[in-house]
Amino acid sequence: MRPFAYERADAAGAAATLVAERPDAAYFAGGTNLVDLMKLGVTSPGLLVDVSRLPYGEIEHRDDGGVLIGATVRNAELAGDRGIRERFPLLSQALLAGASGQLRSVATTAGNLLQRTRCVYFQDVSKPCNKREPGSGCPAIEGAHRELGVLGTSEHCVATHPSDMAVALVALDAVAHVRSAAGATRVVPVEELYLLPGATPQRETVLERGDLITAVELPPPPSGAAMRYRKVRDRWSYAFALVSVAVLVRVADDGTLDEVRIALGGMAPRPWRARAAEELLRAQRPTEELARAAAEAELAAARPLPENTFKLELARDLIVAEIRGLVAGEENR
Ligand SMILES: Cc1cc2nc3c(=O)[nH]c(=O)nc-3n(C[C@H](O)[C@H](O)[C@H](O)COP(=O)(O)OP(=O)(O)OC[C@H]3O[C@@H](n4cnc5c(N)ncnc54)[C@H](O)[C@@H]3O)c2cc1C
Ligand code: SF4
Repeated sequence: MRPFAYERADAAGAAATLVAERPDAAYFAGGTNLVDLMKLGVTSPGLLVDVSRLPYGEIEHRDDGGVLIGATVRNAELAGDRGIRERFPLLSQALLAGASGQLRSVATTAGNLLQRTRCVYFQDVSKPCNKREPGSGCPAIEGAHRELGVLGTSEHCVATHPSDMAVALVALDAVAHVRSAAGATRVVPVEELYLLPGATPQRETVLERGDLITAVELPPPPSGAAMRYRKVRDRWSYAFALVSVAVLVRVADDGTLDEVRIALGGMAPRPWRARAAEELLRAQRPTEELARAAAEAELAAARPLPENTFKLELARDLIVAEIRGLVAGEENR
């Protein structure tokens, strides 16, 4: 048992000062990931600064159709929000595909975005891991990597980002509102929040010490768009994605796609926006052949390992199936 201090913050400034001043301090929200990692010895903060009571617990639907989701809104509340279910169904579907009812009732929006990889070596402190201990090596490349990444990985780390919600947010062009330790605010597209591992897999996001996520903002969805989140996993609950896909399309009167957005989960160190595939599909009739060619173009840059090569076929077939289904009007399958 390692002792640690706990402070409940009632203002963002005080919370940020506490975390900025102590290198071993960490924000604590629902604690569903952080406390697990503390129990495993992966991280040992000397001070937990509880931000769950900060005034970021509202879901604000705006007149223009956009939504501001407070950082401490619980995943269950967000998934069940009527406006989210009706106008951003893929976000609700992604949340409900993650964790369990109990966990979702505690887990928060910001905590979900910043949860850590589920790579088994990262979670086992008796093993080397470049992300946990820079320079120690990446045993996953020669070892257990079936669940790990095929896109955007490096020779130093092949971990995947585990969040379902983040994949949905990337497809929805969401941005995170960030408050720095000094009180300055900025907006970061969720897609750009995460760094690819390169030679420094220990650096996972663009956030600096003391940066606090205060909200996530959804721009208004394109009117008339259809969207869906689909997740393939080893079992129905309590399992992370082998591959997931968030797709949003809108079919114009002439049968071409005038909006198409695709994001993949379980494939990369960050939610992966499939821009090459989108480019090939945009302003075209979404035939099965074209959807397949678009998926293959996206996956051409993949670097699979022996045990996760199956993800390429799975991702391709998911993209094709979801585009076909959405174009055919099967929104609630
Ligand atoms: C058994 C199990 C199964 C799961 N299955 C899934 C799944 O299938 N899909 C999925 O997506 N997730 C899954 N999860 C993960 C779960 O969604 C996350 O644990 C949860 O979303 C984390 O939210 P939290 O509020 O508890 O974060 P915490 O554990 O409190 O924090 C996580 C990280 O975020 C930081 N943080 C928190 N709030 C802020 C803030 N406002 N600003 C800056 N930093 C902050 C913390 O310092 C910490 O580093 C599973 C978890 C478990 C235990
Ligand atoms: S894949 Fe990344 S997290 Fe997993 S062992 Fe390798 S360096 Fe560590």
